[in-house]
This record gives sequence, structure tokens and C-alpha cells, in this order.
Amino acid sequence: MYPFTLERPRDVSEATRLGSADSAAYIAGGTDMMQLLTDEILHPDHLVALDGLLDARIEVTPDQALRLGGAARMSDIADDPDVAAVFPVIAEALLLSASGQVRNMATIGGNLLQRTRCPYFRDPGVHACNKRRPGAGCAAMDGANRTLAVLGTSPHCIATNASDVAVALVAVGAQVHVRGPGGDRVIALEDLYRLPGDTPQIETVLEPGELITAVVVPPSPAARNSTYLKVRDRTSFEFALTSAAVGLDIADGVIRSAGVAMGGVGTKPWRMPLVEEALIGRPAGEETYRDAARYATEGAVTREGNRLKPELMKRTLVRALSVVGGRA
Ligand code: SF4
Repeated sequence: MYPFTLERPRDVSEATRLGSADSAAYIAGGTDMMQLLTDEILHPDHLVALDGLLDARIEVTPDQALRLGGAARMSDIADDPDVAAVFPVIAEALLLSASGQVRNMATIGGNLLQRTRCPYFRDPGVHACNKRRPGAGCAAMDGANRTLAVLGTSPHCIATNASDVAVALVAVGAQVHVRGPGGDRVIALEDLYRLPGDTPQIETVLEPGELITAVVVPPSPAARNSTYLKVRDRTSFEFALTSAAVGLDIADGVIRSAGVAMGGVGTKPWRMPLVEEALIGRPAGEETYRDAARYATEGAVTREGNRLKPELMKRTLVRALSVVGGRA
């Protein structure tokens, strides 16, 4: 591990000041950061510890919005009975993430900012990774890319966003509240993430020193009838090949509103507005789900190893929609 100083700020303002310094990084639960440090993928000069500084409360308000403090633990959110009742897609996505031990430590803010699991990004012995070494090339293009993205890719990077709960939160229209040296601002979670383009090393729109203080989800009838389906190579401690976060508001057999996002397939959590439009106003049922799922793969670009994904995406989506459709 490279040497660094450990900074222990007294409050969030001091943290953002320290965190905006050149070569500074935050650490909260540490479940991803410790791996990145010990594998020498990241080597910040200053590590700014956030433990004890950020809000960790979990609150479902009387109007059925959800507010998560940035330091809320994954396991606490998943175990919250109000979250499970009003936003089942969020609880399910969390329970299908990582392991129990990791969920006990990891914070929601850290989860949303975790780095990709592209095997070449995580291997310091590989030189050709534009995300780690801008301009060095991309070993994944013609390498082991079965798990990598088919949506939002660029000629410079095809790394998949690894977060499950980010997919669920995008499907229900979550916003993140961030604070930095310049003050507070609110960003739609979907807009937090940047596409790789020709600068894959810049993954979010966060400015130096900005950190996530809260995640807020508006009330949504579709979220109440929602689920998260994750398809992966083994049933535990594995990242998604494909996943679907779906919510349907159905009345008298007709879909009134829908929230749909997919994971394991995009360089960011991928909301699917064309699928949502194709669902709304149609009768709930398999024919509607199959018709709508055709739009999920619009714009998909595959490589040799991940050609299975477009078909798997459609099947994953139809199955998830059938689950929530069958509950209504
Ligand atoms: Fe690096 Fe992205 Fe290529 Fe993976 S896909 S090797 S993260 S540039």
C-alpha cells in the first residue's frame, strides 16, 4: 500500500475542505476503498475519514417519500420494515448485493460511488486501462468482457457500473443531496453518473470535495409494487450479468405508471424511458411485457464475450415485470 495521511475532520465542512485537496479521497464504510488501497489501484496522498460525521437515519415520511442519510448502512436500510413495504425494490436490491458482512459496513453514499469491477481496472498488473491510466488503451475491448457493458459504452471504456441499489434508486427517481466547499446541491441520481466518452477516468459530475449527504426518493405508487431481479453466475456475493428494477402501478388491469431500470448492462445504472412508455396505458400481461422489453436493448453495442446480454436483458425484464404484474 502507498503511504497516505489519515485526516479526521471534526465536521462535514472541514471534511469537504480537506476532501477538495489534490489527491484526497474519502473513506466511510471502507468496503471498496480498502480493496482499492491494498491492491494499489488508488493511491491518494490524503484519506479523509467520514465516520461519525454524516447522517445515518432512514425515514419513510407520512406522504411515503424516503430519505436516507448518506451514512445509512446497507443492512439497516434493507432491514427497515417501512422501506421493505413502500420501496421493496430498494430492500431487495440491497439484500442481493455483496455479503452480509459487507452490507453491515457499507454506507449508501459509498455504495453509489463504488468503482467498477472490470477485472482489468482491478488488476494493477494490467497497463491498458484508460480509467486508471488515461490514454493507455482498454484491455477489455478484445479481452474478457463477458460481464461488461453494452449500453453507454465508448471506444475508450466498456466498464459496467457495479451497484445494485443504484439501479433500484434510478428506477424510482431518486435524487442525491451533495455538499461541497461551494455549498449544497441536489442531483437526480441518474445524472450523477457520466458516460465514459473519452474521459472514462471521470465517473461522476461531483466536484472536488463534494460528498453525498442524503438520498431522497419521492412518493411513487409504482414503487410500492416493485421488485429487483438479479441474474448472476452464482447466487451469492456476485455481481449482475443483468438485473432489472421494475415497478408498476396497475389499476383495473391497466398499467398507469411504470419505473424501469437495468443493471449489469450499462456504464451507469440505466433507466429505460422507452420501456416505461411502452408499458403505460397497456393491459398488464405477458404480451405487453414482451412488447415493451424489445426497447430495452435499443442502442446496445456488444463485444465478443458479452453477446449474450441483449437476449438476457429482455428475458430478465419480462420475468421481473411478470412478478410485479402478478402481484397487482
Ligand atoms: Fe479500464 Fe474501462 Fe477498459 Fe475496463 S473497460 S480496462 S475499466 S478502460
